Amino acid sequence: MTRIFSGIKPTGHLTLGNYLGAVRQWVEVDQHKADALFCVVDLHALTVDHDPARVRRLSRQAATLLLAAGLEPARCTVFVQSHVDEHTRLSYLLECTASDGEMRRMIQYKEKSARERAAGGGVRLSLLTYPVLMAADILAYSADEVPVGDDQAQHVELTRDLAVRFNQRYGHTFTVPKAVVPSVAARIMDLQDPTSKMGKSHAETAGIVYLLDEPDVARKKIMRAVTDSGSEVVYDREAQPGVANLLEILASCTGGTPAELAGTYASYGALKRDTAEAVLELLRPVRERHAELCADPGYVDAVLREGAVRARELARPTVDAAYAAIGLLPPA
Ligand code: ATP
Ligand code: MG
Repeated sequence: MTRIFSGIKPTGHLTLGNYLGAVRQWVEVDQHKADALFCVVDLHALTVDHDPARVRRLSRQAATLLLAAGLEPARCTVFVQSHVDEHTRLSYLLECTASDGEMRRMIQYKEKSARERAAGGGVRLSLLTYPVLMAADILAYSADEVPVGDDQAQHVELTRDLAVRFNQRYGHTFTVPKAVVPSVAARIMDLQDPTSKMGKSHAETAGIVYLLDEPDVARKKIMRAVTDSGSEVVYDREAQPGVANLLEILASCTGGTPAELAGTYASYGALKRDTAEAVLELLRPVRERHAELCADPGYVDAVLREGAVRARELARPTVDAAYAAIGLLPPA
């Protein structure tokens, strides 16, 4: 059976981008077709300036939202990365397989390290090595597929390189995974700056729709989205990035293609109104279920406990095999 792994970082509140680019596919497709594991990758949230209490709170919130969005513990495994030691155990071996040049070439490292420097802070070494830990997350579970938004495709490519290299040097140990990126909404852009990706850790929040935004707040953000000069609604990511972004969001919510939808609108205002309504409709059940689950924290704890047990069972043999293959003496 196909094995799927994907994760989400507790670096901020989950966004519409996270939902349309990743989580919705996990819920609607992946958990039904494969043995799927979904992880709140909390160790990755420590790669940038962080507040401990906030990371803890956001980890719980992310897990709760994944369940609220429709992940079913009977169909898939939901767990927290730091509950399973195999991730960091394997990460070190992969660090011994990767080069620093490979890490410095990662686009996200370039962007996020620049942001940290601009904010006056230092760049944590873990930000540089983060893609290696991500590779360990994936390879520990022998995942075949990694459903992610477009921005993570480069990291999955690196994961493939590391797996192939390790297998060639030390004998076949890892499954070589592939990224699965949705055809629409693979990169939702910030509503106030449609040339940059909507990201949950960004400081400017006016262009970000969060899953837990009050409906009025989410509606206002969409109605105030930056659109382009001109008034014709066309789907052109280069020439009209703001309008194209709205069309992608709408298409992802309602079906159809962005180009087809463009032909049905005569004004930006109508497009914004319909997009806002479609988004609110999509998020309403998630918000409602989230509120229910918040009233039952024991349930979420139990799901995460059982998820970690299963994840550990799956990861341990692969990670032990990697330890043996690379030349470490097994404990007697
Ligand atoms: P951060 O700003 O901390 O990197 P993020 O919003 O990028 O947060 P991640 O936890 O890095 O979220 O990514 C979780 C998943 O959501 C990944 O599969 C990622 O590709 C996807 N994703 C993130 N942002 C978007 C977006 N704007 N559009 C589509 N998919 C996205
Ligand atoms: Mg990200």
